[in-house]
Amino acid sequence: MLTQAPKGTHDILPDEIDKWYYVEKKFAEICSRFGYREIRLPVFEHTELFQRGVGETTDIVQKEMYTFEDKGGRSLTLRPEGTAGVVRSYIENGMSSWPQPTKLFYNITAYRYEKMQKGRYREFHQLGVELFGAKDPSADVEVISLMVLFFNSLGIKNLTLNLNSIGCAECRKAYNQMLKEFLADKIDNMCENCRGRINRNPMRILDCKEEGCRTYLKDAPSLLDNICDDCREHFEKVTQGLQDIGIPYEIDKAIVRGLDYYNRTVFEFVSRNIGTQGTVCGGGRYDTLIELCGGPPTPGIGFAIGVERLLLEMESQGIQIPSRPGPDIYLGSIGEQADRLCERLAWDLRSKGITCIKDIMGRSVKAQMKYADKLGARYALIIGDNEVESNKASLKDMKTGESRDISLDTLIDRLIKKREND
Ligand code: ATP
Ligand code: MG
Repeated sequence: MLTQAPKGTHDILPDEIDKWYYVEKKFAEICSRFGYREIRLPVFEHTELFQRGVGETTDIVQKEMYTFEDKGGRSLTLRPEGTAGVVRSYIENGMSSWPQPTKLFYNITAYRYEKMQKGRYREFHQLGVELFGAKDPSADVEVISLMVLFFNSLGIKNLTLNLNSIGCAECRKAYNQMLKEFLADKIDNMCENCRGRINRNPMRILDCKEEGCRTYLKDAPSLLDNICDDCREHFEKVTQGLQDIGIPYEIDKAIVRGLDYYNRTVFEFVSRNIGTQGTVCGGGRYDTLIELCGGPPTPGIGFAIGVERLLLEMESQGIQIPSRPGPDIYLGSIGEQADRLCERLAWDLRSKGITCIKDIMGRSVKAQMKYADKLGARYALIIGDNEVESNKASLKDMKTGESRDISLDTLIDRLIKKREND
C-alpha cells in the first residue's frame, strides 16, 4: 500500500510532462484568442454545491463523489467536475456586475469514484470553459468553434461533433409525460435504475446503457422532435452558424448528457479510435443553473475536455509532440579549483537565461561526458587546472563532435549567438 498510488490515480512523470505542458499551453492560447481568462478554484467545495449544481439524480451525485467530513464537521466533496465551482465563484464574486459576457477557462483535476478502465480514472484532468451572460445561439457557435480550433491546433483529425437540443423545462415537461406513456407497459421489465428514474427524471432513462433497456428504448419518441418553437429556432440558428463557418456536425438525438442542469444545446466530441471511453469532450447550455445555485438569472454555456482521453487520442493518431531541447551547455570539471570556476560560470550563464547543467557528483571526465550526452546537451566544456590557469577551454559541439578552443570570457556571448543561429 505504502508504495502504491491509490487505485484510479496516475502519476505524470517528467518524461511525459512536455506533452501536458504542450496541450495546456495551446488551450490557454486558444482560449485567450476568444477573450477567455483563467480561473483557479479550490479542489473541494461544500457537498451541497454539487448536490444542487450537478443534480441529485445524476450518477455523479448518487455514486461517484468523494465526500468527507472535515474536522469542523462540514461535509465537503472533491470536485467531480468544474462547472459547479465556477458558478459558485461567479455568484460569490458578483461577476454579473463585470462587463458581460463573462468568459472563463479552467485547467483542473477532478475526482469521481468510478470503475477504473482505459481513459477512465478516479483522479483525472479537465480543460474547460464557461461563458456566462450570453443566451444567443451565436454564443453556442462560438464555444463550439473554440473547441474545434483547439483540436485543429493540436493536429487532431476525425473527431465527430455530435449535437442535440434537449429543449427547456417547458418542452421537457410535455416530453417527459409522453415518454412515461410510451414506457408505461415496458418499465416493469426495465432495470432498477430506470424504474427509479421514471418518476424522478424520465428523460435520463434514455441514457441507460443496459442492453435490455436499450431494446425497449429503440422506438421511444425523441426529445428533439418535440421541443417548443423557441428552442427549435435556437437550435436551427446554432446549426446554421456552424454551417456558415464550415464546422461539420452530426445530430444525435440520443445525447441527453449525464448532468441534470443542461438545456437546449448539448454536444459531445467523440473519437472512433480510443474505444468505449471515446467521448473526449462534453458540454452544453445551462440557462437555469446560476439561478438554481442562488445567483441572478443568467444564461450559461460551457464544455469540459478530458485530458487523459485527449492524449490517448493524439497518441492513437500518431501526433508527435515536440519535446523540450536538452540543456544549452554541460559544464564538467576536474579538481576543486576547476569546480569553483565552474560554479561561477554556471551562475553567470544561468543568470543570462542559458540552460546550464554542471557536475555536482565529482565523477570522472568520461562519466561526465556520458551524462552530458544522455541529457542531450548542445555543447560541453570540461575545465581542469590548465583551463583555470589559461582562462581558455575547449568547447565541444555535441552535434558535430567538433571542439574549439575559446576564451572563457567570451563563453556567454558565444552561446547566446549560437543559440540564435541554431
Ligand atoms: P462518460 O460518459 O465517459 O462517463 P461523462 O458524461 O461522465 O463521461 P462529463 O461529465 O461530460 O463526462 O466530463 C467531460 C469529459 O471529462 C468527458 O467527456 C471525458 O473526456 C472526461 N471524463 C469524465 N469522467 C472521466 C474519468 N473518470 N476519467 C477520465 N476522464 C473522464
Ligand atoms: Mg461519467
